[in-house]
Amino acid sequence: MSDNQVNFERLVADTRATLGRIATEFTPAVLASSLAAEDMVLTDMILRPGLPIGIFTLETGRLHKETLQMVERIKQTYAYDVELFKPETEAVDAYVKANGLNAFYDSVDMRKECCRIRKVEPLNRALAGKKAWVTGQRRAQSTTRAELHVQEDDAAHGMVKFNPLADWSEDDVWRYIRENDVPYNPLHDKGYPSIGCEPCTRAIQPGEDIRAGRWWWENADTKECGLHLVDGKLVRISAKANVTEGNVK
Ligand code: SF4
Repeated sequence: MSDNQVNFERLVADTRATLGRIATEFTPAVLASSLAAEDMVLTDMILRPGLPIGIFTLETGRLHKETLQMVERIKQTYAYDVELFKPETEAVDAYVKANGLNAFYDSVDMRKECCRIRKVEPLNRALAGKKAWVTGQRRAQSTTRAELHVQEDDAAHGMVKFNPLADWSEDDVWRYIRENDVPYNPLHDKGYPSIGCEPCTRAIQPGEDIRAGRWWWENADTKECGLHLVDGKLVRISAKANVTEGNVK
């Protein structure tokens, strides 16, 4: 067996062990799934052995149809209904009435306000009463995730946050998907390594950063949703007690 194979199998075993520990020590816990490739790896690892970890997605009202169709594919493959959390209708209507449907292109503040309404507030509802949440974030995805840890204290939400794929490479993700026949969003085959809301995501060119297609009109250091803001500020705390800059996807 090659070193590469040994390392991959160790990575998979470590990740399964992390999810097993979450299931036994941190119930109720939930996976915040963007329905992209990393979250499909975790979905497979949770649902195949029947781990008691819930799975939800933020249905922002601006997702690609291909992304929404993943909810049905998960149901067909695993007989599991992903829970959908939607933004408050009144808040969306007020934002659109005051600023326009696509005002997020106008400024970083307008974009963050749209993310707050469509993602941050629904996320807070989805996490209410949970002991831990799980994301598919990887350290290699971008500079804003360079300090990501497998386990972090999420002070903003008052719980533990797990990033079981923190050490995974993109190749590891696709190797797992291929070897385990995991369903995945077809947009990944069309140049979208990172998938968010439709108007805020575009395909990338070969050699571009994985998250270059997200909020492409902004500077790289503003490209997060604010899902881990503390008192309105991006927070970075070192080592295990760590709330990083970041988002679900
Ligand atoms: S990603 Fe774009 S459309 Fe989606 S919530 Fe954020 S600003 Fe709004």
